Amino acid sequence: MTTFNVRRLKLLLGEEHREQIEVELPVFTFGGERYVPVPEAVAAEFVVNRAVTGMLFTLAFTARLHGPCHRCLGDAVLEVPVFAREYQASSDDDEELSTPYLIEDELQLSGWARDAVSLALPDRILCRPDCAGLCPECGENLNTNPHQHASQATDSRWAALESLRDQL
Ligand SMILES: [Zn+2]
Ligand SMILES: [Zn+2]
Repeated sequence: MTTFNVRRLKLLLGEEHREQIEVELPVFTFGGERYVPVPEAVAAEFVVNRAVTGMLFTLAFTARLHGPCHRCLGDAVLEVPVFAREYQASSDDDEELSTPYLIEDELQLSGWARDAVSLALPDRILCRPDCAGLCPECGENLNTNPHQHASQATDSRWAALESLRDQL
């Protein structure tokens, strides 16, 4: 897991440290499915700003996750752009203004990146926005084999009648 030691930074007030860092990402579990980051380590833009009252950390990257589509279980690739900020006050007594990712001068970049990706995930991961999903009747993939069963056709006729009745 990637960490960054902030003690070795000798930043003066108002100074900025900017660096490209390879941040390792874990495998994500989402909706009971596994999503693997490809590549496992993302190139992140990491910035530290020294202010009067503390340090501001910024992490920006795009994670690419591979895993199953929530609708059809086919392969889905998801790009997750992340822009995250954390602040650490110089005085220790201000709990509100201290980042949970800074542990004994080691900024936990992987843990932070993992949480930031989790927060940025969409409600559903789909192979494409209009994925047709699986047939509820026979379980076949409706993207590769679009079809309807006789009973479904009847159902949709009923649905049409029902909606007509609602309008009357
Ligand atoms: Zn799908
Ligand atoms: Zn079917």
